[in-house]
Amino acid sequence: MPGFELFGELEKQQVNDVLDNGVLMRYGFDGMRKGHWKAKELETELSKAFQTKHVQLVSSGTAAVSVALASAGVGAGDEVIMPTFTFVASFEAIMMLGAIPVLVDVDDTLCLNPEAVQQAITPKTKAIMVVQMCGSMANMDALQTIATKNNLLLVEDACQAIGGTYNGKPLGSIGDLGCFSFDFVKTITCGEGGAVITNNQNYYTNADHYSDHGHDHVGNDRGAETHPFLGYNFRISELHAAVGLAQVKRLPEFLNIQRKYLNIFQEVVGALPQVTLRTVPVGGEESGAFFNFFLPYLESARKVIQGFKEGGIDACWNYYDNNWHYIRKWEHLKNLKSLFPISEEVKNGLKYLETASFNDSDHFIGRNISCLIKLSWTEDEVKVRAQKMAQIIASVLK
Ligand SMILES: *Cc1c(COP(=O)(O)O)cnc(C)c1O
Repeated sequence: MPGFELFGELEKQQVNDVLDNGVLMRYGFDGMRKGHWKAKELETELSKAFQTKHVQLVSSGTAAVSVALASAGVGAGDEVIMPTFTFVASFEAIMMLGAIPVLVDVDDTLCLNPEAVQQAITPKTKAIMVVQMCGSMANMDALQTIATKNNLLLVEDACQAIGGTYNGKPLGSIGDLGCFSFDFVKTITCGEGGAVITNNQNYYTNADHYSDHGHDHVGNDRGAETHPFLGYNFRISELHAAVGLAQVKRLPEFLNIQRKYLNIFQEVVGALPQVTLRTVPVGGEESGAFFNFFLPYLESARKVIQGFKEGGIDACWNYYDNNWHYIRKWEHLKNLKSLFPISEEVKNGLKYLETASFNDSDHFIGRNISCLIKLSWTEDEVKVRAQKMAQIIASVLK
């Protein structure tokens, strides 16, 4: 996945354009910037790549999720349904707005289980936030039907699945709003950065203003701009956008590599009787950022991870035992360890976490192994690696 592995001359050229004129900010300073508008150019490129009318770059993927929700009016006391398996950013972004994350089970797609979503809907539910984990996706048709029927927003976090598609549409472009991260380890990197994409003009205008202190961006005198509503600063800098501009042009190249390697892993490792590949919904095509599979039991997954470690196979995880991506180890969320007071509404809204159990999620996450696919590997290295993984699995699970 990480685009930084193929960082090179193109990225340097783009950054040098910015350094030449010294305008590091994305707005204003029209006279000094010698025609360089890296953030604007990147927004245009992303709009093409994701076949979506509007793109607002922001400072991170986490900011993108917060800005997306805020732009659609999600705030204090609103419930946002999200999966138990995701990056911690998902609940952080919801809680920053004073909204309440409602965690529900994932299924064998490793993404939201539509039935669990349906059951979690209450009169307070405002949005469903689907997280397209590890290069693939949830059953989007089912989720869209639920969202439409219940008049809920569908927000798509596609941070880990850039370039994946569903029924021919880029992931991130299917929901009402989509979110991307361009942090250092994502498929395209800016160093730090993120984007909100939407076809809704109103959400876009809100995201544009909200991510820059509420500035209306009318005219070319920043000091004279008005503030139609409150905002914050989630701006991306021109330096970061410049790196992303070089990287986005390489996305098709990155995706070809990822998918070629994913096929090799699926054929070699997937041939073992102990291995079940992750389910990809009908109509879906993975981005190839990760290779995911299930083993028969939690204990078998743990044994295989141990075997991989001893056999020198790095970059594979069982997220059941990982601190970042699964509810089981999110003690700081369950115990509401906050630096500052949290509203009673959110405290009450999160009480369910003290006793909730997520057996279905445990069943899938406990047995899952997720392996990063690196862009810097050669095809031969991938073939050797896949054989070695298969040997280890076969010998550990005899
Ligand atoms: C990386 C990631 C984010 C957050 O992105 P940052 O740019 O690191 O803030 C959000 N959601 C998911 C699923 C991610 O993987």
